[in-house]
Order: sequence, then C-alpha cells, then structure tokens
Amino acid sequence: MGKRVAIIGAGVSGLASIRCCLEEGLEPTCFERSSDVGGLWKFSDHAEEGRASIYQSVFTNSSKEMMCFPDFPYPDDYPNYMHHSKLQEYIQTFAQKKNLLRYIKFETLVSSIKKCPSFIVTGQWDIVIEKDGNQESIIFDAVMICSGHHVYPNLPTNSFPGLENFQGNYFHSRDYKGPDAFKGKRVLVIGLGNSGSDIAVELSRLAAQVMISTRSGSWVMSRVWDDGYPWDMVYVTRFASFLRNVFPPLISDWLYVKKMNTWFKHENYGLMPLNGPLRKEPVFNDELPSRILCGALSIKPSVKLFTETSAMFEDGTMFEAIDSIIFATGYNYAYPFLDDSIIKSRNNEITLFKGIFPPHMEKPTLAVIGLVQSLGAAIPTADLQARWAAKVFADSCILPTMKEMMDDIDEKMGKKLKCLFFSFLRFGQSQTLQTDYITYMDELGSFIGAKPNIPWLMLTDPQLALEVYFGPCSPYQFRLMGPGKWDGARNAILTQWDRTVKPTRSRVVSETQRQHPFFNLFKMLSFSVLLLAILLVFY
Ligand code: FAD
Ligand code: NAP
Repeated sequence: MGKRVAIIGAGVSGLASIRCCLEEGLEPTCFERSSDVGGLWKFSDHAEEGRASIYQSVFTNSSKEMMCFPDFPYPDDYPNYMHHSKLQEYIQTFAQKKNLLRYIKFETLVSSIKKCPSFIVTGQWDIVIEKDGNQESIIFDAVMICSGHHVYPNLPTNSFPGLENFQGNYFHSRDYKGPDAFKGKRVLVIGLGNSGSDIAVELSRLAAQVMISTRSGSWVMSRVWDDGYPWDMVYVTRFASFLRNVFPPLISDWLYVKKMNTWFKHENYGLMPLNGPLRKEPVFNDELPSRILCGALSIKPSVKLFTETSAMFEDGTMFEAIDSIIFATGYNYAYPFLDDSIIKSRNNEITLFKGIFPPHMEKPTLAVIGLVQSLGAAIPTADLQARWAAKVFADSCILPTMKEMMDDIDEKMGKKLKCLFFSFLRFGQSQTLQTDYITYMDELGSFIGAKPNIPWLMLTDPQLALEVYFGPCSPYQFRLMGPGKWDGARNAILTQWDRTVKPTRSRVVSETQRQHPFFNLFKMLSFSVLLLAILLVFY
C-alpha cells in the first residue's frame, strides 16, 4: 500500500497534487471546503469565507499555451486569454478526464493539521476535518497544502488617517463583483495591481469619475505583445531569459525600462514606477492608458488623509465628494489550520526550501504547493512543484540537508546577496515568494530529471531544440523527457503556434505569409554560435 497523502484544496494546485501522487503510487485524499474543483476560478456572486473571490469580468493574464497542465493542452478553438468561466470549464474537464474526482471529499473543511506524537519516527500528521458539523481526526503519512494565497484581504485601514470619518462606503476588491452599483458614482481605487486596474477600468465606463491612488506606480503591459502574439509566448522564452540574464545589471535594467516604455511613456500617464528596474509583477491591462487618455480615469499618488467626503493626496490635490473607496490592496497569505512556526521558522519570515518544503522538519512530509509566484503561469508551476513533492514523499528523491536548504533560502532571500540577479531586491517586497520563472522551473526540473536537455535535443531533434530554446517556454517542455514524460509533448510544442492563432484567424483573406526559409537557417546558426560561445567561456 502506498503512503497516504492529505491534500488541502481542490484548486489547480490540489488537482496537480492528486495527479502527481497517483503517478508516484501514493494514495491521495483531497479535502475541499466548497462543492466543486477550480478554487479561485469557481466564480461565486458573493465572497465565501476562506475561499478566493473574483469579479465577474476577470480574464486570465497568462495565455492558454502557457497556463495549461503540461500534458493537457486547451482545445485549439479556446481563446488565448480566457474568461474565468472558460478556464473553470477546462479545469473541470481536466479533473474528469484524469479521473481525479473520486479522490476529492467535497464540502469538507480541514480545520487542523498537527504533527503526530510519533512524528520524529513516522513523519505522520494528524488532520482534523469537518463535514456537516461533525469532526473527524485522520492520520496521514504526508500533507500537501494547496489552499491558495489570494484569500485573506490586506485591508490597511490603519494606514489612512481620517478614514474612520469617511461617510461613504469602503471595502476590499475581494468583495467587488461588478460595476452596476457604481453608475454615476465617484470612486477611488487604492492600489495599482491587476485587481485595481481591472476594476477601475471597468468602473470608468459608467461611474461619474474614477481615480486610482498608487504608492509606487507600476509598469503596464499589453496582453498583445510583439507582432500581436500573447505577451508570454514572446517574453517567456529561454533565449529572451538568457539575454536578460547575460547582461550586467545596469544594461539589463536599462533594456527592461526601455522595453516597458515602448507601448507608451509611463511618465506621461502618472504610472511610472518609483523603482523602474524592479521586476515587480506588471499590470496587464490593454485599456488602462486609453481610459486615462479619454479622461475617464486618472492616477494619483498616495492618500495623505481622508475627510468625511474626500481624499487629500500626497501632492496636495483633492478628490471631492467620493461615494466609494475600493481597497485593491492585495492579499496576505494565511494557513489557519497550521502552526505558523512551521512555515515561518525564523524571524516571522517564510522559510521554505524552493518555496515548497519547510527545512527544519525531522521528516520531509509536508509541502506547500502554489505559494511561489513568478512572471509565469500558476498551473505548470504547481504541476512541477507537486511532482517533486510526490517524489520526495515516495522516497524516490531526497532533499538536501537542513543546512544546505537554509543556505539556499538565505541566498534567495538576499541575506547573502551573492549577486543581484536572483535576490529578493530584484522582485521587491511581496507576501508571496517571487522568482524568475524559467530559472525556477529549470531548478525544480533538475531535481526530478525533467529539465529539458537542450544540447542533447540539438543533436537528436534540432527542430524541436530550436522551438524549445527560441520559442515559448511552454509547460510541455517539462514533460518532454525524464520521469513523468508525456509522449504528446513534442507534438504539442511543435503545434503551439497553430493553437495560438486558430481562434483569432476567423477570417482568412489570403495564403498565410510564411517565414522566409532562411529564417530557420539564421536561427540555427545563431544558436550554434551561442552554444560555441558558452562552451568557450566555460572550458
Ligand atoms: P486556489 O485556486 O485559491 O484554490 C484553493 C482551494 O483550497 C479552494 O478551492 C479552497 O476552497 C480550498 N481550501 C482552502 N482552505 C481549505 C481548507 N482549510 N479545507 C479545505 N479546503 C480548503 N495565475 C495565472 O497563472 N494566470 C492568470 O491569468 C491568473 N489570473 C488571476 C486572476 C486573479 C483575479 C487572481 C486573484 C489570481 C490569478 N492568478 C493567475 C493566480 C491564481 O492564484 C492561480 O491561477 C491559481 O488559481 C491558484 O490556484 P490554487 O489551487 O493554488 O489556489
Ligand atoms: P497585488 O498585485 O498585491 O496589488 C496590490 C496593490 O495594492 C499594489 O499596487 C500595492 O501598492 C497596493 N498596496 C498594498 N498595500 C498597500 C497599502 N498599505 N497602501 C496603499 N497601497 C497598497 O494585488 P491584486 O491586484 O489583488 O492581485 C493579486 C494577484 O492576482 C496578482 O498575482 C495578480 O496578477 C492576480 N490578478 C490577476 C488578474 C487577471 O489575470 N486579470 C486580475 C486581478 C488579479 P505598491 O505597488 O505601492 O506596493
């Protein structure tokens, strides 16, 4: 009999975890407090306790080829950026087709997870669940925490003098569902993240006036990137990542700022980040600059104080007669069922090896899936994290020593600051653990033998090697070789562009203009030169 693994939550992280446990011969039981899979993507018209809550108009900001389960491409007629209902449909189909539903206990809350008295020897956990008002305690050999991190609102009301006197209403973006109630109103949105900008843009169509207040500004990116392709298909490539990392920080930062300002000059729109080169998550919004140009929306600095009806900003300007304030100020993570010191083992900081494993455990039988955030999609990240965790639980992978794990954490958190590139500084302050997507995925892939071996591919399958290196770093790459290999990965990689353009080429006018035959030759040549240069540098 395989080891019994408890999985908390049946969002995308939970589903990936169930599947990976099954692949390793483990026995998963997933507990989900709601009545369906999908987690955040299961829309509800009111915010539910303990579960993420999204608004009706949410569309993904990752494209379909970059945010699929790595052996389960979206149907080719799916749009590149999906409405939440479309993504939920995909997640449900994945759960059904992969036969995962039978491992999920719905409407079951996990209220406590504690080490068993025998933990030092067995690594077992005592898990208390609640269903229909009844409590039950069950022993498991390992636990995967997949409960999400966009659940508990960060509502910094204490940082705003005078808010207690404000006579309009204020609430967190988690409680925003749609614009209808705001027709003709004057609304202040605090926070320039993706929630704040989506909500402000939507409101700007029917509210009388909308303003966004931001402390530090943000880069705003279009979902439509070079040549009209989805941004992540062009930006998240191994070649682009190599170029970004090969230059000294000064040049790389300059190029980054230049690229971010290509669409429009952020300074002229009040959006310019205080720290331009900081790789903070950008805002993805195609309409924000246009709503600013139309005067329907304006950007303001931090709020200095509120009066009964208005806000005064740091620059002395006022927004008068405000009806509503929406705090789009993000989220705090919390695991109310777990002793905090397991995840924050030092100075109240998250100390997790690779953002997954608590390093101080006598037995490595607990993993957090989905907490790491990168400029890449959540689903493939969760899949790779869960594959590694399942292998560790099944004893087919061994974690480094506690000291090695702590050293790695110190290095990543910027304590040792060996180099600026991967330090905490580069990604700014964040509640989640932010990191560079491809670097992180390759690291995880290396632990389980799933990192694509590009020199080997170059020798055996050059066409594929070119697409893997120059093309989008799509999830299929991590099921191309090694344990957990998916036979369809090669074909999925070579056809990813076809699925990308299929839903938009709805009116075909003439024979498609194909890439010049010399283009591939050119790519092949530059790739060889690059490889040669790397070899020369290292040997
Ligand atoms: P969740 O989806 O939050 O699922 C957690 C599940 O655990 C829930 O079903 C919850 O009910 C359950 N649960 C929690 N506690 C318990 C408990 N104690 N007992 C039992 N069950 C419990 N990422 C992208 O990659 N691309 C995007 O385009 C994108 N867009 C986003 C848009 C918005 C508005 C937000 C807020 C986030 C977006 N994200 C996006 C990030 C998003 O977090 C991930 O896509 C992903 O949904 C996270 O999945 P998860 O399974 O880790 O967590
Ligand atoms: P977020 O990304 O954390 O942004 C929160 C914003 O609030 C930041 O701009 C921050 O300002 C500001 N803020 C935080 N604390 C503040 C304070 N004390 N005072 C003033 N401002 C404060 O949160 P989010 O926008 O809700 O997004 C959460 C996640 O969901 C992100 O990963 C996002 O990509 C995702 N999301 C995706 C979509 C989509 O796909 N369409 C939509 C919404 C959200 P500073 O910059 O000054 O720190």
